[in-house]
Amino acid sequence: MIKELHQKLVEKKISSVELTKQYLKRIKERNSEINAFLSVDEKGALENARKVDQKIAKGKDIGMLEGIPYAVKDNFCVTDGVTTAGSKILENYKAPYDNFVIGKLKKAGAVLLGKTNMDEFAMGTSTENSAYGVVKNPIDLERVAGGSSGGSAAAVSDEQAVWSLGSDTGGSIRCPASFCGTVGMKPTYGRVSRSGIIAMASSYDQIGPFTKSVEDAAIVLDEICGKDSRDNTTIVKEINFLNNLKPEIEGVKIGILKEFLGEDVNPEVKRIIENKIKWAKKNGAEVVDVEIPGIKYSLAVYYLMICSEISSNLARFDGMRYGVQIKADNILDTYLKSREKGLGDEVKRRIILGTYALSAGYKDAYYKKAQQVRDLIKGGFKKVFEEVDLILTPTMMGPAFKIGEKCANPLELYLVDISTVPVNVAMLPAISISAGFASIDGKKLPIGMQLIGPWWQEQSILNTALAFENSSK
Ligand code: GLN
Repeated sequence: MIKELHQKLVEKKISSVELTKQYLKRIKERNSEINAFLSVDEKGALENARKVDQKIAKGKDIGMLEGIPYAVKDNFCVTDGVTTAGSKILENYKAPYDNFVIGKLKKAGAVLLGKTNMDEFAMGTSTENSAYGVVKNPIDLERVAGGSSGGSAAAVSDEQAVWSLGSDTGGSIRCPASFCGTVGMKPTYGRVSRSGIIAMASSYDQIGPFTKSVEDAAIVLDEICGKDSRDNTTIVKEINFLNNLKPEIEGVKIGILKEFLGEDVNPEVKRIIENKIKWAKKNGAEVVDVEIPGIKYSLAVYYLMICSEISSNLARFDGMRYGVQIKADNILDTYLKSREKGLGDEVKRRIILGTYALSAGYKDAYYKKAQQVRDLIKGGFKKVFEEVDLILTPTMMGPAFKIGEKCANPLELYLVDISTVPVNVAMLPAISISAGFASIDGKKLPIGMQLIGPWWQEQSILNTALAFENSSK
C-alpha cells in the first residue's frame, strides 16, 4: 500500500495534501465512535503535506514514507500538542523534545496525523484502561480493539491512517494487530531506539509498526531502526529489509509450541492456525514440534519484572515535574493527592505490586529469581533456534473479546497474553499477520498468526510472513 501511494505521489496522481485530507476526513467521521485518536494535528499535518507537495512540484525525489499520513501511540513524546500516555496525570503534558523515531520520521517527511489512544501507560490488553475511554474494534463495535496500542491498530484497520506506530512490552502491538486484522511487528529488543517513549518496563519495551501488509512493515522498519546514542541497547542497522524482502516458505524449518495449540485455544483459532500449518507443509516447509523448558513461567516472570520496573519508572509522576499537580497543605500530601487522582487503578495496582517485589528482603526472592528464570527461557529459545528457523503460534488464544467481558478480574486479562509475552521475556522479534476470520455470533472476526524468529532475524520473519500473506490473497 505504501509503495503504491508513494508511486501515486511521485506521478502526481494524488497530492500529499489530498491524501492527508482524505485521512483527516475519515478520522472526523469515525473518531466519536471508534475513539482511536486522542488528538489530531490537522494544521501540522497539512503543513507538512504541503511541504512535500512543493518538493514534488520542484521535481525532487521523495522518500518512501514522505507525504504519507501516519499515526503514533500517545506514549511517544512529540513536541506538537500534548503527550498523555493515556493517563490523566499527563493530560496537560507537553514534551520538551521529540522521540528519536519521531525525529527521524519528521526528517523523512512522513505526515503525522495525530496521537492514538492506549491503555494508561501501556498497561493493559484491551485499551479499557485508558483514562480517555475504550477504543472500539472497527470490525465489531461491541468488541475491544486489543491493547495496549488499541488506537494505533484501530486507526490502520479503519483506514484512519496508512500506518502507525505502537509499543510492545508484552504483546501490545501483536495483540491489537490480531484483534483488528492488521500486521503488527515487534522487533528485537534494541532494534529500535526507546529514547523518548514514556517508559513502562525498560527491559521489555520495544517500538514497532502497524501496517496493512508485510511489505509496509518492512518499509517502516527500515526507516525507524538503527543506532541511537541515547539508547545504548540499539545497534547499527546492517540490512535493508525492503530490498531483501522475498516470499520464503520452501525449506523453512518451523517449530510448533504445543502449549499454544492446546485446550485453552478457541476452536476457530485452532482450525485457522492448523490450516496455515498444513499450507506451509504443502509448500515445502518442514514443521516440527519444539519445547522450551520454563516457558510456562513466562507470564509469572513478566508480571513480576514489569511491575517492578513500572514502580521505579513511574516514581517520577508525582505532580512535581510532569503533568497535573493537586496542591495540598504539605509536600507529601501533594505527592499523594496528585498520584491518587492522576493515576488509574491498574497503574496503582502494578506500582504497589512492583514496590513490594523490590522492597528490602524480597528483591532477591522475587526480581532476581524472575531474572534467572528469564535467562532460562531465553536459553530455551536459543536452543530451539539452533534447530528451527522460526516458531509459529496463534497470536492470541481467541478473537477480540467483548467490551467489559474481562474487566472484573485483572488476572483473567493477564492470562490473555500467554503467547505474546514469552517473546518479550526473551527479547525476540515477532510479527502478527492476519491468518483468516473466525465466524462468531454471525460476525467474521480476524485471527492473527504469530511468527517468532531468532534475535535480529527480522528479515526471515518478514520473508516467511510474506509467503503466508501471499497465500491468503
Ligand atoms: N497486556 C500487557 C500488559 O498489560 C501488555 C503491555 C504492553 O505490551 N505494553 O502488561
